[in-house]
Amino acid sequence: MSSIQNKINELRASLREHNYNYYVLDNATISDYDFDIKLQELQDLEAKHPEFFDANSPTQRVGGGVTKNFETIAHEHRMYSLDNSYSKEDLQDWETRIKKLVDGDIQYTCELKYDGASISLTYENGSLARAVTRGDGFQGDNVTVNIKTIKSVPLQLKGDGYPAKFDIRGEIVLPFDGFNKMNEERIEIGEEPYRNPRNTASGSLKLQDSAEVAKRPLECMLYNITGSNLGIQTQFESLEKARAWGFKVPKAAKLTNSIDEVLEFVDYWNVNRHDLPYETDGVVVKVNSLQQQEELGYTAKAPRWAMAYKFKAEQVSTKLNSITYQVGRTGAITPVANLEPVELAGTTVKRASLHNADQIEKLDIRVGDTVYVEKGGEIIPKILGVDLSKRNNPSEPTQYITSCPECETELIRQEGEAQHYCPNYNGCSPQIIGRIQHFISRKAMDIDGLGGETVALLVNEGLISNYSDLYELTKEEVIPLERMAEKSADNLIQGIELSKNIPFERVLFALGIRYVGETVAKKLAKHYKSIDAIAGATQEGLVNVDEIGVKIAESVSVFFSSEINLHIINRLQQFGVQLELSAEQLIGQTNILKGDIIVVSGVFESVSRNELKKLIEDNGGKLSSSISSKTSYIVAGSNMGPSKKEKANQLGVLLINEHEFLQRIQ
Ligand code: AMP
Ligand code: ZN
Repeated sequence: MSSIQNKINELRASLREHNYNYYVLDNATISDYDFDIKLQELQDLEAKHPEFFDANSPTQRVGGGVTKNFETIAHEHRMYSLDNSYSKEDLQDWETRIKKLVDGDIQYTCELKYDGASISLTYENGSLARAVTRGDGFQGDNVTVNIKTIKSVPLQLKGDGYPAKFDIRGEIVLPFDGFNKMNEERIEIGEEPYRNPRNTASGSLKLQDSAEVAKRPLECMLYNITGSNLGIQTQFESLEKARAWGFKVPKAAKLTNSIDEVLEFVDYWNVNRHDLPYETDGVVVKVNSLQQQEELGYTAKAPRWAMAYKFKAEQVSTKLNSITYQVGRTGAITPVANLEPVELAGTTVKRASLHNADQIEKLDIRVGDTVYVEKGGEIIPKILGVDLSKRNNPSEPTQYITSCPECETELIRQEGEAQHYCPNYNGCSPQIIGRIQHFISRKAMDIDGLGGETVALLVNEGLISNYSDLYELTKEEVIPLERMAEKSADNLIQGIELSKNIPFERVLFALGIRYVGETVAKKLAKHYKSIDAIAGATQEGLVNVDEIGVKIAESVSVFFSSEINLHIINRLQQFGVQLELSAEQLIGQTNILKGDIIVVSGVFESVSRNELKKLIEDNGGKLSSSISSKTSYIVAGSNMGPSKKEKANQLGVLLINEHEFLQRIQ
């Protein structure tokens, strides 16, 4: 090795160590001045010797890279959300539920719930390879250049005990101190201060100029390691390992043996969190054993093995000035409370959702009342009730509207539904516009170059009246629109053209069928494989698809029974939008397991549990998490819990091992 390279390596190692001591351990081992001198020396050497470039050198932390559009990257392992609980009873109910699904005693790791922006970091051979935002949980933005500037994120891991490849999840937060300092500077230069640390942290991840990000005192707290063959048995152990590899893992994490101990942890932090340098909004309780975690698995949205416990939200009271009504893209009417602006949990609240007519009636909310407003984790605050002592008399109960505020059509409310709807599906402007806006949105057709306002403009100018019309738009038609330049018209037309490559399941979601969200769209696409098959499905057939209930089935039927909808879909088909699974997506898909309801339990050798589950679904089988008389058979690995075994015995359900299973799908 040349002496130059030696010197460079030495400087990198030394800067890395000082950086770790300062930002992860909060223990400075060098003066700022000396640190800067060393950094400068390294920068000079690297500039002179580009052959020794290293993307993870400490010099890369100063940023400088500019990103115009962040690349979308699929998460190898999905990023789930968390279920919430608010009381001792909620936690006890959770324990009762999970005790039915796993055997043995359950220990819990308790951690603080950091309130920031979640991030997934991928490490390969000890180096940071990628940092991706949570996005929709399935895919997010590649923000690696920005994340590298955060000093508590190791670019190079310590020691050598880490797996060759793994993902680690954490939360990017902006501590109060840094947040306040940023605001002081903003006020000084005459800019509006930022509202709260959480939004500022998540906004920072998407800044185009990484040098700007480098200036923000962001921190990254890690809480979950994901991957295969990690050689880790428990959540608590994974936190300790992460800490040893150089990650910042707050010391508050605690291993507990019962829900009572969990509650002690909650009580302690409910008070002491106010002394923490960053914002927390609760506690996250996780089943400690990773094997039990596997047994418990996931719902469509969240792990069954974890539960967030939310600290009690802050409350204030303020005056209700008026109630207005919004019409959503599905025609659903949402009453909105317009409030006298009031400060709450770091933001100014002016509006709150009133949900529906029942809610207004139940709380007897009247215009002019003083109401209690609460802000939990949600963005939109909610109204808890009325301070009757402040009611002006006489006052009239609120009369809910009977016709649509936009098109004056009489509203309907179906049996058992809380919401009023405007039934004027094809003639009510917010519905028409909302539907097209949903169609083009990021998780749907992701049409670059076309925004919500332009959609409204296009509809109002009579250029389009449904989403299939987009595909006939010409550049000449859009150029005369307000604020539309030649370049943006080109982008718009090109974005629409590119959307013809969007895969079928997202097109299905984009259609905006009521109750057909992303997950349901995926299920339907996978099961039926083409729009024609879905359109031809009966309600009974639909209900038989895993996780599709009566409500969804009904809504799908209604959608496809409309001549207008069929016509629009026909047009999409003609324009070349993907209305069936692609040949690629069909690879490995069979119907061999059709009709089989299968439970997976235990630990496997030749396939991972997730691969096994995927194989079952790809081959047309239906997964179930609990054993019942309907179970066709159980694919059992080693370590299957005794109570599950007993249940299978009682019900006479067949157990097969992984090899027998793999043979079945040959
Ligand atoms: P929610 O956004 O309310 O569904 O809560 C889920 C989010 O909490 C996750 O996506 C994480 O970003 C965040 N979170 C914060 N702290 C933790 C923690 N200790 N463990 C797991 N998730 C956490
Ligand atoms: Zn209407």
